[in-house]
Amino acid sequence: MNDLVLDSEILSHILDNKEISRQDAIEIYKKSIDNPRELFFTAQKLRGRFKKNSVTFSKKAFFNIVNLCKDTCSYCTYKSEPGEQKLSLMSKQQVSELLQLAKKYRCTEALFVTGEQPEQRYQEAREWLKKNGFKSTAEYLIHASELALESGLFPHTNAGNLSFEEMKELKKTNVSMGLMLENVSERLTQRGMPHYLAASKRPKARLEVLENSGRLRIPMTTGILVGIGETMYEIIDSIFAIKQLHQKYGNIQEIILQNFQPKEDTLMKNEPSADEKYFKTVVALTRIIMPDMNIQIPPNLSPKSYQSFLSVGINDWGGISPLTPDFVNPEFSWPKINDVDKNSKEAGFELKCRFPAYPEFFSFISKELRDKMTAIENDEGLVKEEYWK
Ligand code: SF4
Repeated sequence: MNDLVLDSEILSHILDNKEISRQDAIEIYKKSIDNPRELFFTAQKLRGRFKKNSVTFSKKAFFNIVNLCKDTCSYCTYKSEPGEQKLSLMSKQQVSELLQLAKKYRCTEALFVTGEQPEQRYQEAREWLKKNGFKSTAEYLIHASELALESGLFPHTNAGNLSFEEMKELKKTNVSMGLMLENVSERLTQRGMPHYLAASKRPKARLEVLENSGRLRIPMTTGILVGIGETMYEIIDSIFAIKQLHQKYGNIQEIILQNFQPKEDTLMKNEPSADEKYFKTVVALTRIIMPDMNIQIPPNLSPKSYQSFLSVGINDWGGISPLTPDFVNPEFSWPKINDVDKNSKEAGFELKCRFPAYPEFFSFISKELRDKMTAIENDEGLVKEEYWK
């Protein structure tokens, strides 16, 4: 995009490093409905200013530790019921085997994912824990994280609403953790809405976990699920809620903007996913509200156009696995890392591999963990190219 003389005073102010208010964001959004050019241009400028011409990703293996879940969200196919073919209850042996394979593929991240407190609802989960010698899913995750570190991988756990104490324990082995805010709107928890049967998705509960991550100084990944029946105003409110947390604790390392995709066998199977212009507007608004934040979109969920999001503000592709599926969206396979590299290059960006924690947040990580990272770390705090390529 060539240089543009901005008509919008608010956008000019943003380029002059002025803070933006909620009202400003709403004005900008309203103006962008007819013509998003100025918004996209500003987001692109800020992205260039704060993130230069690189785009990062994390080379990961996805450990689907247990996909039983006490909640039910209307769009989810990750969650399994006992007896279903997709049920996953990984044994310690399976965790170890996948770690060995991930090491062979030179992955750097072990992503540990579970449903929400499965043992509270399912006898199967309680038996699985007992068989493996654990009292809770969190205890299992602590053990799995230790195994990952021993194998030379760096854990990043996303296990729903963990308690303060559980997170405190996991911080010892996890270089970062994740919990999607999804949306700060209470409306989405009402009857007929996607989070009606998911107590863990109540904004208050999610914000509390994110607050705890701040108190514990954990580099935290969070984000918004786009296209689940929210309004753009609710998205703007959600971005500001994340911004507020970050201003308070400084530990939000990235925002994932994940576009909802309808799935068969779910209540939302006939709902369309967000169209590209809407999704790009969300990305650009996030960039102008938090100009120096790391902003990620998963490339597998925009398979035909992911590189076009580089021009509206994203600077990260998230975790890409060369060996395991995306168990949350199994019908969308991850692109090959070589292809992402090529497509990023063609769009004018250099692909770099990061650790599950961004370099700006290394001061939050213990010396023991930092020491382990340095063996494969380059001068920029990223993974050495000869290791991941
Ligand atoms: S999205 Fe998460 S909390 Fe909701 S049903 Fe699926 S696994 Fe459970």
